[in-house]
Amino acid sequence: MKKIKLQPSSSKPSRTKPAASQSLAIRGGPPAVQAPKPSSYAHGPQEIGVEEIEAVTAVLKTKNLFRFHKNEADSPTAQFERLVSQLTGSRHVLAVNSGTSALIAGLVGLGVSSGDEVLVPSYTYIATAAAVLAVRAFPVIVEIDSSLTMDPQDAARKITPRTRAIIPVHMRGVPCRMDEIMNLARERKLKVLEDCAQANGGAYRGRPLGSIGDAGEFSLQQFKIITSGEGGVLVTDNRVIYERAGCYHDSAYTFWKERDWSIQPFLGENYRMSELNGALALAQLRKRDRILARLRAIKRRLIKAISTAPGITLQDVPDPEGDCATSLVFFTETPDRTRRFAEALRAEGMAAGSMFDKEFPDRHIFYHWDYILEKRTPDAYGHPWQDPVRPCQVAYSREMCPQSLSWLNRAVAVPLTQAMSDAHVDGCAEAIKKVAQLL
Ligand SMILES: *Cc1c(COP(=O)(O)O)cnc(C)c1O
Repeated sequence: MKKIKLQPSSSKPSRTKPAASQSLAIRGGPPAVQAPKPSSYAHGPQEIGVEEIEAVTAVLKTKNLFRFHKNEADSPTAQFERLVSQLTGSRHVLAVNSGTSALIAGLVGLGVSSGDEVLVPSYTYIATAAAVLAVRAFPVIVEIDSSLTMDPQDAARKITPRTRAIIPVHMRGVPCRMDEIMNLARERKLKVLEDCAQANGGAYRGRPLGSIGDAGEFSLQQFKIITSGEGGVLVTDNRVIYERAGCYHDSAYTFWKERDWSIQPFLGENYRMSELNGALALAQLRKRDRILARLRAIKRRLIKAISTAPGITLQDVPDPEGDCATSLVFFTETPDRTRRFAEALRAEGMAAGSMFDKEFPDRHIFYHWDYILEKRTPDAYGHPWQDPVRPCQVAYSREMCPQSLSWLNRAVAVPLTQAMSDAHVDGCAEAIKKVAQLL
């Protein structure tokens, strides 16, 4: 691979003009990244192979795709739950059919009720906020900081007498400021449900994400670190939370599951996981830590190589060791430069994007959560927003989280995948340094 010299060598201290080969690809220069881009930026889906195919086929051969009414040893879904329990150290694990279902069941588990307020970050998949509404509680949208995760100081400011819980979201695999959030929650007697949908296998100060709060949720949807097509998991150490979530996840749960119940069963929906998904999830989970090890090595290599690039500041990662490393994010000085920076990187032959655009409806940024900002509902009487007993007292607007938009507006995101070759990673580093210097 062609090496591009960025710093003038010490023997030629007077050279200030970049060589021709250093001119930016957007200005017609040769691209910095010569090694081909990976064919996909997905994580789990790329790893689907003989293990997944055999696991699913084995379930099909049994002609029994239902997870209950059988010996747990015969259920791949139950085996998946056991492996999640081992990996997170959580006593109780419930597999469900999506991350959103896991959030809803988790909120029911925690006792979040109609009219309660739940703190969610301004930057998360919209499902985090929608799950709160599904249990007839109201999302209170909290600023993010330089970590692009919940700002604990703003969270403290947004607590009211109605606040019941906090959902910190480990966005893009980056662990939240969990010490500050857990301290706040204990002080103000709030429950914590960790949203680990994008951070399966991440950790904070040595503790697996999901096992720090009262409960944790994971998603197994296609775009996550591992996938079962659709799927989700709830983890908790608390038996009551687990039983309440279990009841809600299946209207007949207590009929399938014979055990000593510590709660009175109540109504539920159907969030059950099928054995096909359970088998897929188990096969994928066995590959998770290998995927993460490669992602972390790639991110370390990139960060080391770009440490001298001028004018960019890396995202503040509260625990770099626990980062899932699914992307590299850095800030430039202005929104305009950020957009041009990302465009210049793409021209150099790598994947990169700016993160906020008023015109592009990104479902991960509160600014674009129209149905929440406008308090829309399918209910003819306006529930949950309108309620004679505990109506919504939260006001929403596109201007409510200026700090969040300021960070997102200056953020360049580089997606990482385990399939990147070292040569491609080194090319990306050269491109970032080149653009930082010449743009
Ligand atoms: C994907 C995702 C969810 C929801 O998961 P689904 O499986 O799609 O329901 C929730 N929170 C975050 C942060 C997500 O990325």
